[in-house]
Amino acid sequence: MNFTKALFAAIISIALLSSCKTTQKTPVETHDLPAIEVKPPYEDYRASNTILNDLQHTKLKVRFDWNKKYLYGIAEVTAKPYFTSVNTLILNARGMDFNEVSLITDTGRKKLTYSYQNDSLTINLDRFYNRTETYTVYIDYISKPDELKNIGGSVAINSDKGLYFVNADGKNPNKPRQVWTQGETQSNSVWFPTIDSPNQNMTQEISITVDSSFVTLSNGLMTSSVKNADGTRTDTWKQSLPAAPYLTMMAVSNFKVVKDRWRNIEVNYYVDPEYEMYAKDIFGNVPEILDFYSRKLGVDYPWEKSSHVVVHDYVSGAMENTSAILYGEFLQRTKRELLDGTSENTIAHEIFHHWFGDYVTCESWSNIPLNESFATYGEYLWDEYKYGREEADKGGMDDLNQYLAEAKYKQVDLIRFHYNAREDMFDRHSYSKGGRVLHMLRKYVGDDAFLHH
Ligand SMILES: [Zn+2]
Repeated sequence: MNFTKALFAAIISIALLSSCKTTQKTPVETHDLPAIEVKPPYEDYRASNTILNDLQHTKLKVRFDWNKKYLYGIAEVTAKPYFTSVNTLILNARGMDFNEVSLITDTGRKKLTYSYQNDSLTINLDRFYNRTETYTVYIDYISKPDELKNIGGSVAINSDKGLYFVNADGKNPNKPRQVWTQGETQSNSVWFPTIDSPNQNMTQEISITVDSSFVTLSNGLMTSSVKNADGTRTDTWKQSLPAAPYLTMMAVSNFKVVKDRWRNIEVNYYVDPEYEMYAKDIFGNVPEILDFYSRKLGVDYPWEKSSHVVVHDYVSGAMENTSAILYGEFLQRTKRELLDGTSENTIAHEIFHHWFGDYVTCESWSNIPLNESFATYGEYLWDEYKYGREEADKGGMDDLNQYLAEAKYKQVDLIRFHYNAREDMFDRHSYSKGGRVLHMLRKYVGDDAFLHH
């Protein structure tokens, strides 16, 4: 019997007892009370998204109009039915214009009919496909992030525009001109049509055409860099390991690239030119962090490279885009400034995500502690290894205090299927408390069982 039933039974028995005793009639009074609105305690149950079509591969060709802050894109989206046969493909595509939607066939492109409503692009395929058949749709589109109607955000990520132009007209002499993206939670569908859900994953290839003075970065390896007749250059980046669409990224600016290495993997630091000489002071421990986590977890860092880029006007702290981590300006410090404190915790956190978050991904935002609690605990593990138990425990205490401060006004389950906005999941429960719970579990079962591999 649960609490509610017990209470209900008690009320019934009290009511029965008192009615037995009533002998005298009480005068009846009526009062008009103000109407009260009765709401269910929670919003809808937040189930994982149903998978009708299973993304396989996304190939993009993009270029920018810096004046209008537009992206002109060609997307080739390869998918197949997940189980039941389908004759439609529904893609998330926020605030876009479409020039063409076609099916790619052996003989060329075949136009498809489609409808576009509430940021969903419903494409009518030419026939039913079964789950052994893949198909590729071709979409010629325009992304207009600065003209979006509904801009949202959260405490952790304070905008959901997806694609950002910084100092687009170049009029600010104190800021570089940049383009960068931020996909989590569901913002990458502002700049390419996709099934913008963490329970999808895909390989990808992105060709970015920019003025030849710019440097580009995206996920995976750069497979070609071609100069065009009009003075532009097209860099193609290919990621051959599948990842969730929210982990796709691009960054474009006048970065200086400082090269490093871990085992046979390229490690690169993309910074503003004036921080080139400090890049290794800021990021120099990255190879050792990659090595430590690979050994600690018993699974080698699985991605094709490890790049780290600092951008201006970023909307969060940092983002674990697969093999191309993006950080806010606060990472850039001179050697002298670094004496007062580093942001190595942030670097370690984002790298740890490359196992928990990127290699295995939560299937829905209800499960985000799978990503964030583990990444937070990754900071502890690195501190413990590199700087000792006391330094690690200091970080652990900060986490505890942050959680307790939030717990004064919010107490929820770690994994929770009821929330108002998915961004609400990015709180001190999902990060700090979850990290502390992992530490508690480790202490209960012992290191041998906790880290067993
Ligand atoms: Zn994180």
